[in-house]
Amino acid sequence: MISFDYRVTGGVIKRFLEAKGIGDNCPMCRSGQMSISVFEPHGDLLGEGQAPAVRVLHELEDGSRRGYGEFLRVCLNCGYIHYIRDIEVLAFMEDEGDNG
Ligand SMILES: [Zn+2]
Repeated sequence: MISFDYRVTGGVIKRFLEAKGIGDNCPMCRSGQMSISVFEPHGDLLGEGQAPAVRVLHELEDGSRRGYGEFLRVCLNCGYIHYIRDIEVLAFMEDEGDNG
């Protein structure tokens, strides 16, 4: 299932990746740009980095959820998908909140 949380925007994911030294170039084809998947039902009205990031949650057969979800980026050239576990991003966001 797909979920989103208004606190975790594309901008948060972008800052997280920058803080970890991860660039925008695709690690597979090396020429494509990785694009963070965000929830934008009304187009780009919220502006750069303000739309909530799409989070994939995995529901198990018994209806429970796996203990973590994933944010994702997609290469606009080769379609490579990079999944980012939410636990690390949420911890980063809390640290940012403490410092700001
Ligand atoms: Zn690529």
